[in-house]
Amino acid sequence: MGRYTGAKCKLCRRDGSKLFLKGTRCETAKCPVEKRSRPPGMHGFSRGRPSPYQLRFRATQKVKRYYGVYEQQFRRFFDMATRQKGNTGENLLTLLERRLDSVVRSVGFDASLAGARQMVNHGRFEVNGRKLDIPSYIVREGDVIRPKPQEKNIEELRGSREALGSPAPEWLGVDDSDLTVRVLRLPAGDDVSVEVDEGLVVEFCSR
Ligand code: SF4
Repeated sequence: MGRYTGAKCKLCRRDGSKLFLKGTRCETAKCPVEKRSRPPGMHGFSRGRPSPYQLRFRATQKVKRYYGVYEQQFRRFFDMATRQKGNTGENLLTLLERRLDSVVRSVGFDASLAGARQMVNHGRFEVNGRKLDIPSYIVREGDVIRPKPQEKNIEELRGSREALGSPAPEWLGVDDSDLTVRVLRLPAGDDVSVEVDEGLVVEFCSR
């Protein structure tokens, strides 16, 4: 599947919920989901009740778009989730939440996943003392993520974090003196930041 280069807000409107793909704009009244509740396209209002297949498909699309992963990578994560013990849907979402780009977004170094991913790609972080520029890296308990110590880098990240209200999910600890992030524990189902019925996703992927 090719890279989607169309309007990001359309994806949210199609889904009918906010996927937070455009950073700070998503928190403002300019967000089209706040202004228009109908799906995009001239037939937006005329669609009937979604079929069971559509419900499962939409839930899966939502997860892929929220975490910015395409089919092949999503399948890889799903396979990993099925090999783990416990609830497959929860395993899948917590694995995606542990991606390095998702962690960078979660602690507010950038408001959007695309921005967070670009930061990782540009080598602006070290993990356990080594430069790591792989957005799909899955953090582990005890990992230490440290921004490059250049003043400009730290200032920019601090500014972004403060503008977003210095978020920090319970499973991550952020030291505001040098912006070091520690993985205190692995995320559980309650720590997942996307609202979706993971059962529908598992049913879709298990067809
Ligand atoms: Fe989605 Fe953000 Fe656009 Fe709102 S502003 S529709 S949350 S991408």
